[in-house]
Amino acid sequence: MSDPIRPRKPRVMAIANQKGGVGKTTTAINLAAGLAELGARILVVDLDPQGNASTGLGIEASRRAKTSYDLLLDKPALDEVIQPTRTDTLFICPANADLASADIELAVNERRSQLLREALRQDDMERFGFDYILIDCPPSLSLLTVNALIACDSVLVPLQSEFFALEGLSQLMLTIREVRSTANPALKIEGVLLTMYDKRNNLSQLVEGDARQNLGDLVFRTMIPRNVRVSEAPSYALPVLAYDSGSKGSEAYRALAQEIATRHGFSVQREAAC
Ligand code: ADP
Ligand code: MG
Repeated sequence: MSDPIRPRKPRVMAIANQKGGVGKTTTAINLAAGLAELGARILVVDLDPQGNASTGLGIEASRRAKTSYDLLLDKPALDEVIQPTRTDTLFICPANADLASADIELAVNERRSQLLREALRQDDMERFGFDYILIDCPPSLSLLTVNALIACDSVLVPLQSEFFALEGLSQLMLTIREVRSTANPALKIEGVLLTMYDKRNNLSQLVEGDARQNLGDLVFRTMIPRNVRVSEAPSYALPVLAYDSGSKGSEAYRALAQEIATRHGFSVQREAAC
């Protein structure tokens, strides 16, 4: 499972936008599956009390004895909170409603905003040989999201291709700037991802033009189309890449994984060399 000779440091990426329903969880699941197809070992950390990423990756509620709540507040053995999924090399730290109370419990903890960073960067994590850790954030700028922003190397921001999409961004950017100026100076913006894009809809094109004009290279070349197979996949507890491998949604998430892997110089050859 791990490579004791060459322990690796995973690249940690938070998927965040304080707006709900913009495609954070869908992107966490399917980018993870796309990177796994490229030969990467991936951990998805479900940091949303709604637990949608956990459900979407097939971890039923009864199998969530230890969750990211424990990861933050109880320092469990990692084997207890990290579970395999039906996709090889794709693992999850699940969440359930317990996490909803974490915000309050964190508020009285001195190291409240550093707990996820400490948990993910503990030495024992290297044993799993993860290449990427993707954190699926809740739809708020709560302490949970701040934990994610402090724990990560970069943040990926899904943006739904609809009117007002850009308006919520300034608040997130402010939070990112604040985190950069204090606890995580190296925090990067991985990119802004246009989701639920409908090329027949003028509005989608307007939002794209607006985003590319305002944010330039921060916007990923890859855009995720609105695709019914993407929305069906979670009810089969599968990434769309496994549910309907040839769908437009699968192709798009594969392209996103490739865009990111190329940028990071990640290649399967490295796996073969291990
Ligand atoms: P968030 O995590 O930001 O709240 P989700 O990923 O849960 O957003 O997506 C919100 C809803 O939109 C879900 O029902 C999901 O299935 C659907 N959805 C997300 N991306 C797509 C897409 N590309 N095509 C069709 N439906 C999508
Ligand atoms: Mg979500």
